[in-house]
Amino acid sequence: MVTVVGGGFAGVEAAWAAARRGAQVRLVEMRPVRMTPAHKTPLLCELVCSNSFKSKLATTPAGRLKQEMVALGSLVIPTGEAHAVPGGEALCVDRDRYAEAITSAIGSHPAIEVVRTEFDGILVEQALRDGPVILATGPLTSAGLSAYLAELAGREHLYFYDAVSPVVDATTLDRSVIFAQSRYDKGGDDYLNCPFDQESYARFVQELVTAERAPIHDFEAEDDEHKVVDPRLREERFLEQIKYFSGCTPIEAIADKGARSLAFGNFKPVGLRDPRTGRRPYAALQLRPENRERSLFSLVACQTRLKWGEQKRVFRLVPGLENAEFVRFGVIHRNTYLEAPNVLTERLEMRARRGLFVAGQLTGVEGYVESAAMGILAGIHAAAVERGERVGPPPRASAYGSLLAHLQDRTEREFAPMNINWGLFQEPEPPIKDRGRRQEVKLAAAEAAFTAWLPEALGFAVR
Ligand SMILES: Cc1cc2nc3c(=O)[nH]c(=O)nc-3n(C[C@H](O)[C@H](O)[C@H](O)COP(=O)(O)OP(=O)(O)OC[C@H]3O[C@@H](n4cnc5c(N)ncnc54)[C@H](O)[C@@H]3O)c2cc1C
Repeated sequence: MVTVVGGGFAGVEAAWAAARRGAQVRLVEMRPVRMTPAHKTPLLCELVCSNSFKSKLATTPAGRLKQEMVALGSLVIPTGEAHAVPGGEALCVDRDRYAEAITSAIGSHPAIEVVRTEFDGILVEQALRDGPVILATGPLTSAGLSAYLAELAGREHLYFYDAVSPVVDATTLDRSVIFAQSRYDKGGDDYLNCPFDQESYARFVQELVTAERAPIHDFEAEDDEHKVVDPRLREERFLEQIKYFSGCTPIEAIADKGARSLAFGNFKPVGLRDPRTGRRPYAALQLRPENRERSLFSLVACQTRLKWGEQKRVFRLVPGLENAEFVRFGVIHRNTYLEAPNVLTERLEMRARRGLFVAGQLTGVEGYVESAAMGILAGIHAAAVERGERVGPPPRASAYGSLLAHLQDRTEREFAPMNINWGLFQEPEPPIKDRGRRQEVKLAAAEAAFTAWLPEALGFAVR
């Protein structure tokens, strides 16, 4: 019996992968018995924030990783494709239908039993007597299990923060101002753009940086060794920690850096032309559809920890959003992950506890797709152990190997969660200067290496 703890992206993939390879699987999910601060439903694989699985293009790192996942028998990616909503080059999904479809697929698999309860260390140890256990409890792992991990791994928890963008009702957008266009007309007109002129931009930034921010809670600003009481130090600690995940820096923290930082960053207007003026706007806030019906739009790259009332006031200063109704406000969340290079083997097994595997964001990858990818891998290894077999780790050159290289890299550094990106792929030898050519060579090497390893990973598959 393989026990998987956590029914998120990694957990469902781990359960699916192990069951497809002949294991009896128990999938343990604590919701709805106990909710996390971010999840809202009892559904498996709930998307807590954006509905994007990033690029569909096989020539991008995220696209390449998806291809490898599909080749290994992914559940998460094909279900995403079946419930896709417009998202340009990105694979975006209808979050409710998507999570319902995953819950139904897992629930109807004859080899998977879903158990709704919160697991702690004692229950994990008990489950280990029945076979391998995979911990896939994610960035909001409950306290009891975190304590067990802390004890097992020694120095394990590092905290940082994700910031969520607000979502608005499409019918409340001023379409006489907002125009549909993707940058450089790539990807159709999935994106909507709120164009700023210099004056409206300056007013927005001024209000953004002076608006009231949500207080930083004790549990967000302290770590295992320090409780940060001084408000200034708390702020410093907070910013220090969120910088670990620079892609998710709150918009107000970016605006703090200088009056034009948004115009050169999140609101960069390149590749856009405002049909009202025939010119590029001074800056543009983009909106992306949140569902198939395009009835909801999220404010792209507007993750924020402003107080909710302030969010409404400030974002309504954006041209075209004057009457916007907010169906979800931006919020800030803590993340939990292990320092993988010191605690995990290349098979995602805890060095300190044989038979205990870790998957998903807990391993130190970041994002829905990367977490799911690590779920498949942990499921394969656990199923192999259950049958007394062993599968070698994916080759370094593959997208999988690139993520694993990040988790195994013991160079002295501040280990932080990472999305799949070109920088993780193996550098060609001899080095290639031209960026485009270098990426082509990396992709070709990834494909060749992965294809050579695939039969081993599928070798004991039961279909
Ligand atoms: C607020 C927030 C916003 C995010 N936004 C994005 C985003 O926009 N894009 C993106 O790609 N990634 C985002 N992430 C990261 C994303 O959540 C993860 O990459 C992905 O969900 C991780 O998958 P996972 O399976 O590791 O964890 P999860 O998907 O979180 O699944 C973990 C599951 O374990 C359950 N669980 C926890 N503790 C226990 C326990 N003790 N016993 C039983 N069950 C337990 C939880 O209820 C949950 O269902 C965000 C994370 C947070 C917290």
